[in-house]
This record gives sequence, C-alpha cells and structure tokens, in this order.
Amino acid sequence: MTVPVQTALTEDVPFLDIAGMHAELAAELDAAWRETLVSGSFVGGSALERFEHGWAAYCQVAHAVGVANGTDALVLALRALGVGPGDEVVLPANTFVATAEAVVLAGATPRFIDVDPRTLLVTVKDVEAAIGPRTAAVVAVHLYGQMPDLPALRAATSRAGVALVEDAAQAHGATWSGRRAGSFGDVACFSFYPGKNLGALGDGGAVVTDDAMLAARIRSMADHGRRIGEKYVHDVVGTNSRLDALQARLLSVKLRRLDDWNEARRHVVRRYAARLAGTPAQLVRTATEAESVHHLAVVQVPSRDAVQQRLLERGIATGIHYPVPCHRQLAFERWWREPLPVAEAAAGHLLSLPLSPTMTDAQVERVSDALLSSLDTGLPHQRALPSA
Ligand SMILES: *Cc1c(COP(=O)(O)O)cnc(C)c1O
Repeated sequence: MTVPVQTALTEDVPFLDIAGMHAELAAELDAAWRETLVSGSFVGGSALERFEHGWAAYCQVAHAVGVANGTDALVLALRALGVGPGDEVVLPANTFVATAEAVVLAGATPRFIDVDPRTLLVTVKDVEAAIGPRTAAVVAVHLYGQMPDLPALRAATSRAGVALVEDAAQAHGATWSGRRAGSFGDVACFSFYPGKNLGALGDGGAVVTDDAMLAARIRSMADHGRRIGEKYVHDVVGTNSRLDALQARLLSVKLRRLDDWNEARRHVVRRYAARLAGTPAQLVRTATEAESVHHLAVVQVPSRDAVQQRLLERGIATGIHYPVPCHRQLAFERWWREPLPVAEAAAGHLLSLPLSPTMTDAQVERVSDALLSSLDTGLPHQRALPSA
C-alpha cells in the first residue's frame, strides 16, 4: 500500500490555525487546566481578578469586568448606561449581527448607518447625521481589526450628549494614534470567542471602562443583580453572565502572546498587500492614524462567489464577513429605514482570506497566487472602488 505524500504545496491552507497557536503554548495551557482543577474555584475568584487586572491594563483603562460572551458585554454595557425602550442606538449596517442583537435585547431601536467604502467603517459625518432627539448611544464597531476615527467620534458624541460604546470584539490591541481600543468610549466590549485575536477555549467576553460606578453596575448586573459583597441582596434585575475561572486562566496565558500574534498578522497582511497591489482584489484600507490588528484579511473582488469556489477547489478556505448586512436580515428588517448603498454593494464582493499568526510566507504566496489566477480566468472586471 502506498502512502500519499503530502508536500507543502498540496497541503490545505486553513482559514485560521487555532491549533497551531495553542501548540506554541501547550505546556502553559496544560498547567492552567491543572491549576483550575486543584484550585476548586471555577466561577469568580483570584484567577478571574488577575485576568481582569491584566486586561484593563492592556486596554489602558481602569476597570475590566469578565462576562460570558461579547454579546452579553454589549447588552450589559447598554443597559448599565440606561439605554432601553424608547431610545435609539446608532450602529453600522456592516457588522456581525451581535451588535444589532444587543441593541434590540437592551430594548432600544437600532438605527443602521452606512460605512466608508475604503475602510468599511462608520464615518463621523454619517454618525452625526444619524444622531437625533431619541438617540441615546452610538456603537462604534472596530470591524476586521481597525477602529474608526474614535477621537472624532468621542468629540461628536460628547457634543450631542450621547454615550459612546466601542464594539471592540474584533480589535484586541488595535490603536488609534497609539491609544488602545477600549480606551475611547464610555465603555468598550470585547469577545473572547475562540476565533477572535484573543480567544478563550470556549465563550468569554469583557467590558472595560474608566468609570468605576459603571463597572460596578455591570459587575452586579452580570451576577444576578447582587449588591457587591452580598450574597442574597438583589438591587436590580440582573442575569447570569460570568467569565469562568478556567477561561480567565487560559486567557491570561494567551494574553502574553497577543502582541506577537498581532504583529504576525500584520506581517501576513503586508505581504498580501504587496502581492495584490494594482489588481482587482482590493484589500480593505487602514486609515493612517489606525494600527489594525487584522482580525480578518478582507478583500473586495469581482465575481466573489466564483473566486471563492475556485480557491476552495485548491484547498484554500476563505470566509465572507458578512454576506448580508444586518439591516437586510429578516430579524432586523423592521428597523430598515433607508438604502445603505455601500454596505449593500460591499456584501456581494467581500472575501476574507486565510489569516493566522502561524501562517508562513510560502502559504501567503500560495494564497495570493491562487487568488490572482482565479481573477484572471476571464471574469468580468467590475468598477474599481474609490481609492483612499
Ligand atoms: C464576535 C463579535 C461579537 C459577539 O461576541 P460573542 O462572544 O460571539 O457573543 C460582537 N460584535 C462583533 C463585531 C463580533 O465580531
């Protein structure tokens, strides 16, 4: 019997190599499991506090509260800010559905706005135009790893007297003029879903803020509305949304590698950018002041579905983030007020390329070659996007 020989050239390129990232930390992650087992402490406790302090410091803020997932982080942040029925919340149409879900779960009305064609993020101009008498908050989404212009959004929301919430679920460690994601808003929300730049080995999330009162309110609301330090005194109707001690330990181990992994992602995207410059496959732009952590490497391509199929046939896994903008999803259609042409057009062209901190230069070359030859097979070229 012959064994098929797998060479580097015929191996599949995974979309995200989480196993490879964990292999680098196998001994430390093993120790975290074992420490949790012998500690006998699984919800709350010192391991959680250690991670919360580490995460707040990393985000350049005073407080972090671990919660069960990123969606809960957003719902709790909005509720703790007092956002609820009768309020409108401004958010981009091009985001993961959880952003919109959180607004509705808090009892508020989502007001979807369009995005910039180069960065696919909200612009300050569009946010300002959408703020009305019922607006209570703006959720800025740091999609694909880069922040929109947070200093300008901060100024605009302060002027209008509305809250600024950062959905930083895709931007762990991203900066704007050197300042970290999470440090601009009244409150910022992170997800530690396994595929995020900092991922748990299960679900997890956090809320970060400089406001001690807000942090205390969120901590209480995430723990059945308990008065802090009391077991059976409940001042508000809360919920159960806590970060497990096990996940906190694993996240503390992985946090030590986050900057290296983000740098490795930047290296991959720089190589993609060099290979794809001047071709019909246009990488989403990064603003000059922004340092992206490249959660995703997104290109806009003509005939996206055909290109994706050709890449799949060559063993290259890609994704689409996101095929339908939130306001066109059945669940959110009733809040659809106007056409949002950039988000709607982009949804048909977006393609997320393989991107892992462990990716080799040879793999990046292979994906780039395959992508360019998929574009060159007589596909009709479409209108080029405006350049930055
Ligand atoms: C992942 C994600 C969320 C939700 O996080 P979960 O932990 O999956 O609940 C929210 N917003 C954005 C932009 C995300 O990418």
